[in-house]
Amino acid sequence: MTFFSALLRLKYRYFEGSDIVPFTALLLNASVAFTGFYLISKLYHSEHFGPFRFRGFLIGLLTGAIGLFLMMNAVQVNGEVRVDLRYLPLVLLAFYGARFPLLIATMIVASTRFLFGVTDQAVIAFIATFIVSVGMWWIHRHIHHLLWQSMLLHVWALFVTSVSIFINLGWDTAYIELVLTFWTVGLLVGTLASLLAIDLEKATQRAKAYKHSAERDHLTGLFNRRMWEERTLSLVSERRTYNILALDIDHFKHVNDTYGHPNGDLVLKRFAELLKIETRAHDIVARIGGEEFVILIYDLSPEKVAKVAERIRKRIAAEAFTLSDGTTIQISVSIGIAHGNALPVESMSSLADTALYEAKDQGRNRTVVRHANAHRLIPH
Ligand code: GH3
Ligand code: MG
Ligand code: MG
Repeated sequence: MTFFSALLRLKYRYFEGSDIVPFTALLLNASVAFTGFYLISKLYHSEHFGPFRFRGFLIGLLTGAIGLFLMMNAVQVNGEVRVDLRYLPLVLLAFYGARFPLLIATMIVASTRFLFGVTDQAVIAFIATFIVSVGMWWIHRHIHHLLWQSMLLHVWALFVTSVSIFINLGWDTAYIELVLTFWTVGLLVGTLASLLAIDLEKATQRAKAYKHSAERDHLTGLFNRRMWEERTLSLVSERRTYNILALDIDHFKHVNDTYGHPNGDLVLKRFAELLKIETRAHDIVARIGGEEFVILIYDLSPEKVAKVAERIRKRIAAEAFTLSDGTTIQISVSIGIAHGNALPVESMSSLADTALYEAKDQGRNRTVVRHANAHRLIPH
């Protein structure tokens, strides 16, 4: 409390001794809010702040603190009434649909108003802050056009605040001037802030899309070769037991030649889906060539991994793959498995390839497991 009252005394002296006009004061307010907007957006999109709830809490605190800072730099109309843009940071949270941070920030902004005096005006401001937030939440849920939504959030907040100013001060031309100034600055900053928020949102979505397309195979959505290499780079140092499964569809050229390349693509897509269905979420499945796939499975014993591979092989053999004209075809897959411990991925991959060639040699539609450390063929 003493810290805040010291700050407030400082502020009062600043305002008493200066001829600063509401417009300038609100513009100063707006600059702070704008910087705050940027900081909140950065924090909101950052992935470096631990669990989601914790980050939500941090965002709520930061937003609340910015709101308080804006109140401290308010236009002091008289002893009790303060006009400022404390609602602005809240608008951003509503725009992002960040419900938990918005709740925290609303509670902070509403209750810290009492630091400036426990008055009727503070009670009205307290209630108005909650009305602003609840209304903004409704707008966020119902208006989906980004620019409209953002502008409406600002207009709603300006409207509720104006009503509470008139309730506090009564209808007087001097105050109408103040409210007009408030709307001018509010709308100006609101428009700029909306454009900034939308721009940041779009940039983030674009970055996500680029990341996705850099890591994924376009046709199947599985990891691509580049991502496979990145994910398997640390396998030696992890010193864990792991298995690499190399899969190659049997006589796939025949599928392309008979039914056409686009139908071949349909088969590949469905094949990839089946691989995802038959593996667990933490197994890494990638498409590293035309109809060549790899799977990384940690820890399983050679016997268990052979069972997994057999399950996949049987599932593929049993599947009726639908072509573009609605007819169905059957295919089969050969699987080579390398089982080992703390070995470089290159030697494990080439061992899996050797096992795959063996499976092809033995007549296809089968699984062959090789033990990397013993170079032992494990029958099943
Ligand atoms: P094998 O049993 O020995 O594996 O016989 P195969 O016919 O499958 O032989 P191979 O693996 O060498 O053939 C791969 C074929 O996969 C050649 C190519 O036409 C086809 N292919 C590669 N990439 C794509 C793709 O993206 N889409 C389609 N439809 N076909 C592809
Ligand atoms: Mg092949
Ligand atoms: Mg093949």
